[in-house]
Amino acid sequence: MKSLNKILSACIILVLCSTLTACGREELKPLQRTDIAMGTIINQSIYIEEKSSGGSWLGSFGENSVERSNENREETGFTDLTQEVMSLIDSLEKELLSWRLDSSEIYRINQESGKDGGTEVSESLYTMLEHLLEVSGKSNGALDITIGDVVRLWDIDEYASGEKTGFRLPDQKLLTEALKLTGYQKIAIENGRIYLPEGMNLDLGAVGKGAALDTIAEYFVSRPQVTGAVISVGGSILTYGRKPDASDWRVAVIDPLNPSQSIGYLALEGNWCISTSGDYERYVELEGKRYHHIIDPSTGYPADSGVKSVTVLGRDGLMSDALSTACFVLGVQEGIRLAHEFGAEVLFVDENGKITMSEGMMKYYHGN
Ligand code: AMP
Ligand code: MG
Repeated sequence: MKSLNKILSACIILVLCSTLTACGREELKPLQRTDIAMGTIINQSIYIEEKSSGGSWLGSFGENSVERSNENREETGFTDLTQEVMSLIDSLEKELLSWRLDSSEIYRINQESGKDGGTEVSESLYTMLEHLLEVSGKSNGALDITIGDVVRLWDIDEYASGEKTGFRLPDQKLLTEALKLTGYQKIAIENGRIYLPEGMNLDLGAVGKGAALDTIAEYFVSRPQVTGAVISVGGSILTYGRKPDASDWRVAVIDPLNPSQSIGYLALEGNWCISTSGDYERYVELEGKRYHHIIDPSTGYPADSGVKSVTVLGRDGLMSDALSTACFVLGVQEGIRLAHEFGAEVLFVDENGKITMSEGMMKYYHGN
């Protein structure tokens, strides 16, 4: 819960930043809602078409609730919009991505590792896997979704959330064994099926939040009454459409050395996905050393590239999220090269607080 609180304060910065009006005048308020799902905080701010009779018919909204005047509730049929977003996130996790829930495809694929004939994969997961394997190849394995067994040995998520206590470093022998069960080159996908060596476990934790943003953006396209939105799923944020006053979306970049503060913001128009990977998100400390949740697959240890956080800006949630994890492992120079290969922009903050960004990012980033 400790780390969720940290994320919550970070999210509050993000939402504050993204709903600021340019000149402070009153503007149409968005539907707002905050939940916990995918092990993180989900924040929604959704602007919907103003009622043709005029006036700002959206009232003020409380946490975990969507309140509006009763008068318009029936009439608009929008009551369930934020709930539908939550349902989409839940389904994505339950049906496709979770390694914990036996209802998901990833769970089944892991269970069937080593099986003759492999495992059939849904079209949407198959497409995701194709993209992720491409990022693995181009990042020399810095992103590797076969890292499951190593991630489980560290269990940083569980220690960081307080679910587990008494953190100790994993046994080196077990770590070496677990590393033998990883390696993206050892899996094959072909004709709608995936083939995993026996005992291997996929973990899509690096991209679940970004994948959720893609699903939500697609849903908004099918709901023309949604004119604009900012949705944050932990460290991944979607901006969609426009604000009623046509000002830019402002997405804060958190200061990884002081995560309750921001170092600046990205000013964006229209649809974007922004993913941040940072060592402040989930970590435990032992004897004054921080052990965080992003593993360098070449060592089996938390990545140590001198980077504290990486923010990737792109048009696609899955790819931005995949790249943020890969860039965190690779470090500044190789990370900028990788992001460029995928047409994404990237901003790094290193352990001294130094900011380095791709040339294209300069257009969007404004320091405090
Ligand atoms: P993110 O916060 O998006 O960088 O994702 C971190 C999560 O991805 C971790 O909690 C693990 O579940 C998983 N993970 C950690 N290291 C890697 C890696 N090198 N490649 C792929 N997934 C990873
Ligand atoms: Mg990621």
